[in-house]
Amino acid sequence: MSMFSRFLPKRKPVEIKNNIPKEKANIRKTFGLYCHSHHNTSGDKLCPKCTALLATVMTRMNRCPYGITKPICDRCDRTVQCFGPHQARDFLHIMSSAQKRMFLRHPMMAFKHKLASMGVDYAKYQQAKKIDDKVKAREETAKKRAKDRKAKK
Ligand SMILES: [Zn+2]
Repeated sequence: MSMFSRFLPKRKPVEIKNNIPKEKANIRKTFGLYCHSHHNTSGDKLCPKCTALLATVMTRMNRCPYGITKPICDRCDRTVQCFGPHQARDFLHIMSSAQKRMFLRHPMMAFKHKLASMGVDYAKYQQAKKIDDKVKAREETAKKRAKDRKAKK
């Protein structure tokens, strides 16, 4: 500890944002757009099937094992585990096919959702890279050892 350290600003703890309310709003809007154009509904009303699926998504989200650090649901590895194969397929279908409409109607919301999904991709990429680097490092040391052994002979 330096004697000056007490003059330095205290480091703030990293703040974890709770993005779940925003994601919920985005999913609700996306479902609305999809259902209105595919199932002839309007206003706040959705068809029974979409209503049921949306309700499932909302409850599963509240019970997400990742908590508020969760990636967005339509980019998560656990989509099938959370929703089951059929509902996961329907959910992903709605999210992807209503995306264009979301960009036209709610550009900011769609853009933020896109950013969030890129964040998930980036985290996955970093994770894969870390594992890759470890494997490479292990291979390098193995090679070196083999070389050393040869040199000794
Ligand atoms: Zn519908």
